Amino acid sequence: MPYECDVVTLFPEMFDAITQYGVTGRASRNSIFRLKIWNPRDFSDNSHRTVDDSPYGGGPGMVMMAGPLEEAIISARKRQQMLGIEKTEVIYLTPQGRRLDHCEAKRLSLSPGIILLCGRYEGIDERVIHRQVDTEVSIGDYVLSGGELAAMVVIDSVVRLIPGTLGDPESATQESFVNGLLDYPHYTRPEQYCESSVPDVLLSGNHALIQRWRLQQALGKTWLKRPDLLKLKEKNGITEEEKTL
Ligand code: SAM
Repeated sequence: MPYECDVVTLFPEMFDAITQYGVTGRASRNSIFRLKIWNPRDFSDNSHRTVDDSPYGGGPGMVMMAGPLEEAIISARKRQQMLGIEKTEVIYLTPQGRRLDHCEAKRLSLSPGIILLCGRYEGIDERVIHRQVDTEVSIGDYVLSGGELAAMVVIDSVVRLIPGTLGDPESATQESFVNGLLDYPHYTRPEQYCESSVPDVLLSGNHALIQRWRLQQALGKTWLKRPDLLKLKEKNGITEEEKTL
């Protein structure tokens, strides 16, 4: 059964970027995940299909109205229920949410599906958050013009963790953050590039040595670039292999 991903957005075409290209495009074609778009304009109660209005209390910009958003979310919930998913998590993409990281992507990948809510303008009517949203997720401490790019970041990071998405399942187990470390350095042909050559150990054919070198490199890179991850790893415990280094 595909991972069910419903998205509420005013810009459905933007999502072609993940259903048509690269790893997520292949996963979509192979039915590893299924994307269903809901446009709040289809739930507007007026002939102009308006979905925004000026904010109470004054101030700049427009706010997305509660009614069309809530109806779109309810339709998405019903679709997932009809597929046998009893309670789907509704996620609002917002700079005010908890920052997305590997653990959160992993957690979401273990559920049967998600509903993603993309805001625009100054944001959405707060009552939708209170009534319908389970989790608020941010992709970083900056403000985007809309939740679509953030939703696609969530989908990409989640889908690549679903078994069957990556050609070689080992890829997903060796990437940055998976074991609490950054990834080791990668090299490919040619063996000599300008003044720089591939480290000898990678040409040695000795797999135990290569594995050890890669772990050392991963630890070194993490220590240099993200010492905070090492502190966390120390707290969570290190593996037997790491202890032998
Ligand atoms: N007024 C809002 C604030 O300052 O918190 C920002 C609104 S922003 C211009 C419009 C929409 O973009 C938001 O409703 C949200 O869906 C999305 N968005 C903006 N920045 C984001 C971020 N860092 N992570 C996730 N979504 C974001």
